[in-house]
Amino acid sequence: MSEKFDVVIIGAGAAGLMCAAEAGKRGRKVLVLDHAKKPGRKILIAGGGRCNFTNYDVSASNYLCQNPHFVKSALSQYTNWDFISMVSKHGIEFEERDHGQLFCVGDYDSKDIVKMLLAECNMPNIALRYQQDVHLIEKVESGYSLHSNTDVIECESLVIATGGLSMPKLGATPFGYKVAEQFGLPVQPTTAGLVPFTLHKQDKEDLETLSGIAVPAEITAEDGTLFKEALLFTHRGLSGPSVLQISSFWKAGQRVTINLVPNEDIEALLTNSREKHPNQSLKNTLAKVLPKRLIEVLIERKELVDKPLKQLNHKEFQQVIDTLERWEIAPNGTEGYRTAEVTLGGVDTDSLSSKTMECKKIKGLYFIGEVMDVTGWLGGYNFQWCWSSGFVAGQWV
Ligand SMILES: Cc1cc2nc3c(=O)[nH]c(=O)nc-3n(C[C@H](O)[C@H](O)[C@H](O)COP(=O)(O)OP(=O)(O)OC[C@H]3O[C@@H](n4cnc5c(N)ncnc54)[C@H](O)[C@@H]3O)c2cc1C
Repeated sequence: MSEKFDVVIIGAGAAGLMCAAEAGKRGRKVLVLDHAKKPGRKILIAGGGRCNFTNYDVSASNYLCQNPHFVKSALSQYTNWDFISMVSKHGIEFEERDHGQLFCVGDYDSKDIVKMLLAECNMPNIALRYQQDVHLIEKVESGYSLHSNTDVIECESLVIATGGLSMPKLGATPFGYKVAEQFGLPVQPTTAGLVPFTLHKQDKEDLETLSGIAVPAEITAEDGTLFKEALLFTHRGLSGPSVLQISSFWKAGQRVTINLVPNEDIEALLTNSREKHPNQSLKNTLAKVLPKRLIEVLIERKELVDKPLKQLNHKEFQQVIDTLERWEIAPNGTEGYRTAEVTLGGVDTDSLSSKTMECKKIKGLYFIGEVMDVTGWLGGYNFQWCWSSGFVAGQWV
């Protein structure tokens, strides 16, 4: 005998829990299945444990998707302000950090976001089951039939909320893409996004002594996309918010151009310093605006000369400006899904309704959250997509 539910949601992450709460409010009998031992594992580690749950400034331009208009409907049906209201209703305190990013603060952290979602799901018509592996999904006349390791379940609506491939150690699997393939839905090629860069051997050797040093930077990808945020040198390569952001726009083999002094007028600094202190070394002059060790490494790499300012000829003077404002690095790759915050690509949005997240051609099958070909910038945009897509699906399942 199979158990019957109106809605089965596979994946008890951000999107799945949001969808369950909304479907539950409509009186639907909902079952959430997850193969993990507990819900919302990515929420728990997000934002260093403080969960950057949304952003004050959210628009379609903060998302990468083959169809840039796709996200508009869901983002307007359930906005960042709606989620902020929910967080406030549950008494969770939060703060705004750079670029409008909202994080839990004080006594409140990521655990409270998970608790809040579970509280929203706390209704007699919503069941959550963990350590559930779904082996088989079949389309049947009344909807879908699922075989898990413990049960056979039938449902009218099936929601796939199993996320992307990033951080397999947290339970990420390609399950959602396989379901899409089973039902003949196209999947956009997936790659790691919001991920640190690794470097070619020589660059790595040159730069690894800078490990731990952070500088403000402006990084530009070959497609012209630019982010101005901190850059962090690590023992593996380059990280920090500006690098994570640009990694989603970088393609293998491309270079990135880095302005290491985005808040300085280097030409004016050099001109004024040369007039006032002609015997001062370039290294000491630049040490006013950059970590000394970074200048030394650029000198060792012959990307800067080490001379008194008065000896810099026109070409060398220009080279200093070029190196600092347009420092080029060709990453040899990224750290991959092991450390990536998100997965680029995923279930093609052309096969889904932007209003409901239901498959256009397969009644009752929905995809929500990161499993779809929707990837947000760093800054709370990925969770906002989970809340918005989960909410809209919850109104229709
Ligand atoms: C370290 C880190 C920090 C992050 N910080 C932020 C942040 O601060 N702000 C932000 O907006 N975004 C952040 N993100 C991104 C964000 O966590 C994700 O975009 C979001 O969690 C995706 O939610 P989801 O519900 O689509 O999928 P997930 O959260 O990945 O949930 C999917 C669920 O499905 C389950 N599942 C997977 N496969 C199966 C299967 N085969 N059978 C059954 N269950 C399965 C998983 O166990 C999981 O519970 C961060 C990501 C990482 C890795």
